[in-house]
Amino acid sequence: MDFRPTEEQALLRQSVRAFAETEIRPHVREWDETQHFPIELVPKLAALGLLGIQAPEAYGGAGMSALDYCVCIEELARVDPSVALSVAAHNGLCSAHLLMFGTEEQKQMYLRPLARGEKIGGWALTESSSGSDAGGMRTTAVREGACWTLNGSKAFTTHGRVGDIIVTMAVTDRAAGRKGISAFIVEKGTPGMTPGKKEDKLGMRASDTSEVLFEHCRISSSQLLGDEGQGFVNTMQVLDAGRIGIAALSVGLAQGAHEAALGYALQRKAFGKTISHFQAIQWKLADNATRIEAARLLTYRAAYLKDRGRRTTLESSMAKLYASEIAVKAADDCVQVHGGYGFVKDYPAEKYFRDVKLTTIGEGTSEIQRLVIARQLLSQ
Ligand SMILES: Cc1cc2nc3c(=O)[nH]c(=O)nc-3n(C[C@H](O)[C@H](O)[C@H](O)COP(=O)(O)OP(=O)(O)OC[C@H]3O[C@@H](n4cnc5c(N)ncnc54)[C@H](O)[C@@H]3O)c2cc1C
Repeated sequence: MDFRPTEEQALLRQSVRAFAETEIRPHVREWDETQHFPIELVPKLAALGLLGIQAPEAYGGAGMSALDYCVCIEELARVDPSVALSVAAHNGLCSAHLLMFGTEEQKQMYLRPLARGEKIGGWALTESSSGSDAGGMRTTAVREGACWTLNGSKAFTTHGRVGDIIVTMAVTDRAAGRKGISAFIVEKGTPGMTPGKKEDKLGMRASDTSEVLFEHCRISSSQLLGDEGQGFVNTMQVLDAGRIGIAALSVGLAQGAHEAALGYALQRKAFGKTISHFQAIQWKLADNATRIEAARLLTYRAAYLKDRGRRTTLESSMAKLYASEIAVKAADDCVQVHGGYGFVKDYPAEKYFRDVKLTTIGEGTSEIQRLVIARQLLSQ
């Protein structure tokens, strides 16, 4: 067992951190306030390989490992969790689904431009009446000759408005239940697919989130992704990997909040000394640093196993559950350490506090992670 990062991983962390500090940090507050998805950042993310992190070089990607992916997401989330969420949805959901289940032709046609950052990807599973119970979706796809016709609507799709390629799940055989769900690749501009309401969110406000509406949206049979009826099963496999990304996002966000608290504790004075002298503050810092390290190790372990081809349903859910919940605590403590200044927008504490809540909800709530973990334990 070797806990040291490789030289390449240390360099990768350094370069993503430098990028986030110079290209993202100065704009975080403005993008949050205006709910602006920073489209202007896309070519810069692409130049660093951050839009094709795990896609092989043969498809225009950077060919990095799952562990490298964690480092990238962590460093982005440390500065702006919204940007990290967008990068995670593009890479870890849309592109990952294409990479895992696409045909060679689909990978060349759709994955390549996504990995090169020429197109933005979205992944639409959730509907207004089915989130945790994703198998209860209502959107349908009906085969008509060489085409499929989609009808229905998706909710909370990251990049629902700005996405160029949306991987969408739909019911193809209602009687077959979860085995009657299939995945489809739909391109922006296809008649019948339109973005719906843009969500006005508590946090993660620079990440584009909206409904996606399908009304007699006809696509070619070549846009079926994976085998017919396997969409739900494949989705669970995509989420096994995706949840490692949300765990990494949580670790990075917690790290950012912790550093903000530490910095503030060293400069804020009360009763004639900096508040870092008070044991109550020190314990918060110590507990958070310890929990973040534990979450990081759980996350890296899941990524390490994924890199070795192991199915990581249990490890991914454990990492996602723990990292997201300790991140909530880190963000809460960050506000507390800042006192009244944690409540106002001049400091980053309040934004971490708002952003962090998504981590216990997106890609499966904490309750669903516990359900997945318990099922894994009970089936052994
Ligand atoms: C900013 C943002 C971005 C998102 N991006 C995407 C995206 O790109 N693509 C996508 O498909 N979805 C996306 N989502 C949707 C997200 O994955 C869902 O919101 C999430 O899975 C929860 O579903 P829900 O909102 O319907 O809540 P519900 O499923 O209605 O859950 C409500 C509450 O009930 C609990 N609950 C439900 N079932 C059980 C159970 N069996 N046992 C115990 N408790 C239970 C839940 O844990 C939760 O506390 C996004 C959401 C947000 C907010």
